[in-house]
Amino acid sequence: MAKIGINIATGSLQQEDIIVGIDLGTTNSLVAIIHPETKQPVVLKEHDGAALVPSVVHFGNARTVTVGDEAKIYLITEPHNTIFSVKRLMGKSYNDINKYSTFFTYKILDDDTERLVKIQVGNEFYSPIELSSLILKELKKRAEHILKTPVTRAVITVPAYFNDAQRQATRDAGKLAGLDVLRIVNEPTAASLAYGLGMKKEETKTVAVFDLGGGTFDISILRITNGIFEVLSTNGNTYLGGDDFDSAIVKYWQNQLIISDEQLRNNKSLAQSFRLTAEEAKVYLSFHTEFKGKIQENIVSLTKPEFDKLIYVYVEQTITCCQNALQDAGLSVIDIDEVVMVGGSTRVPLVKKMVSEFFQKPLHDTMNPDEVVALGAAVQADILAGNNKDFLLLDITPLSLGIETMGGLMDVLIPRNSKIPAKAGRQYTTQKDGQSSMRISVYQGERDLVKDNRKLAEFNLNGIPGMPAGFPKVEVSFLVNADGILVVKAKELRSGIEQSIEVKPQYRLTDAEVEKMLLDSITHAKEDMQTRALVEAQTEAGQIINATENFLSKNQSFLSNEEILNTKTAISKLQELVQSGTKDEIQSAIETLNEISRPYAERLMDEAISHAMKGKQI
Ligand code: ADP
Ligand code: MG
Repeated sequence: MAKIGINIATGSLQQEDIIVGIDLGTTNSLVAIIHPETKQPVVLKEHDGAALVPSVVHFGNARTVTVGDEAKIYLITEPHNTIFSVKRLMGKSYNDINKYSTFFTYKILDDDTERLVKIQVGNEFYSPIELSSLILKELKKRAEHILKTPVTRAVITVPAYFNDAQRQATRDAGKLAGLDVLRIVNEPTAASLAYGLGMKKEETKTVAVFDLGGGTFDISILRITNGIFEVLSTNGNTYLGGDDFDSAIVKYWQNQLIISDEQLRNNKSLAQSFRLTAEEAKVYLSFHTEFKGKIQENIVSLTKPEFDKLIYVYVEQTITCCQNALQDAGLSVIDIDEVVMVGGSTRVPLVKKMVSEFFQKPLHDTMNPDEVVALGAAVQADILAGNNKDFLLLDITPLSLGIETMGGLMDVLIPRNSKIPAKAGRQYTTQKDGQSSMRISVYQGERDLVKDNRKLAEFNLNGIPGMPAGFPKVEVSFLVNADGILVVKAKELRSGIEQSIEVKPQYRLTDAEVEKMLLDSITHAKEDMQTRALVEAQTEAGQIINATENFLSKNQSFLSNEEILNTKTAISKLQELVQSGTKDEIQSAIETLNEISRPYAERLMDEAISHAMKGKQI
């Protein structure tokens, strides 16, 4: 149990086990906790009331780093040293973002298309992980300042469509910022939790989470069953959001005032006031019917109907995405039980109206849409802290887990992306007569040969009673518990002897390493498949040669000379091909040998052989 105390002198909270929830957003980031007294999620605010920290990092002259509102000021005036939208670059290679490169006003290196992107600021190079860690460090610092206690543990949210590399990158950013990231949680899951959806046991609900932020739009369809959140489908547009509304207003005023794009490019402070005033107008029009303002000496105005007309095409696009998401999930509008509104841009009345009309339902929009994800992350953090014991939380394995089988092949027991806790088992057998021990080598990775993967552990199952090859039944089972710890157990089922070992799959594996392993598996996929097929054919050939030779020596007297001669010729041909042949050549030679031996084998079928030829061997 977490212990909480209040320091009477300072009024500060002293909480041993505080775990914060962090929404690390493309545009804005923020931190929330469960209030120790009210037990309700609350966002952490400085005295001035600002909870949102713009996800912007500015590098000043003397290598000074500022984050948040102070950094945002430089977006237009110092585009080269002011990094925004770094979340879009997490876990990405240059190839991934190539076609959007004009979006970024800072320098993204493109030295190697396969490698993960780096950002150049002056003479320094930064990875997106490092840049995100600067934002997280700032959030940590603020949280510590507000809570007056060290903050070292966090739950961080990511979009539901984030892949392993992006999730791992987010974890690493946390690590770099000095945070122990206990869980990476999907943003739509967090938003649903904030509204209490899925908090009841034995509840099944289908939820649409509509998230329109500053620069991105995501729609996720979730199914919640007994507290387990399953993502049925995601859709959206990674380059559509409130920024587009701002740009539309800027364009509108530019036309009215007859100011060209060129003029704005050449006058950064004018461009700056256009942007800021446009955003101000947009925000104002969420609650009023007409905006009047000034850009330098020019008077500008915008009415709500005018604004709605400007943004109609964008909102229409979000509705199309909703349709697609439903279709992908195999659902129609009537199957959706709840609609949750997330992201600052869902404050726009036209957005609410069109979404509500599309889903034919009232919306969950009573909470601040730019805070719900962080609030939900806090709920999740509280569950992890053990304050909500009935609740089950699921995570996924970032890389496949398996063991080495004959020929150095990776035999995957738990595929990557499996929900954890996860369990899997498979039976293996011995290769040699009387074999008394079996080596279990545990690997993590996506490649077909274990030599290309990462060895996690190795142990021997000793004391297997003497039996012919193929007789022992060794059950190898993998269990990844909720903390990501893998327990590997090997048990010989006939004798009952067993041995087990515990490994932490994530232990000492850096984010970059996980990313590299995933990238490698993609680049080498074809060659790996071919190697695997060849090794499998070679292994099979070896087994058949052994078994046939064994059979020949034991049963020579029952066979004709012609049978023996033909068999030996076929064996030596196969032996030759195992050394230098292709997979197809080996397979056809195996077939030939089988054709020759089948008639007499059928005649004299021996138990031991049938066993030796069956089952996988380690
Ligand atoms: P992200 O998830 O991308 O980090 P947010 O959810 O914080 O972003 O949303 C930021 C966007 O919300 C910005 O474009 C901002 O202008 C917009 N926004 C915030 N408040 C309002 C409002 N009252 N009306 C319209 N748009 C708003
Ligand atoms: Mg967001």
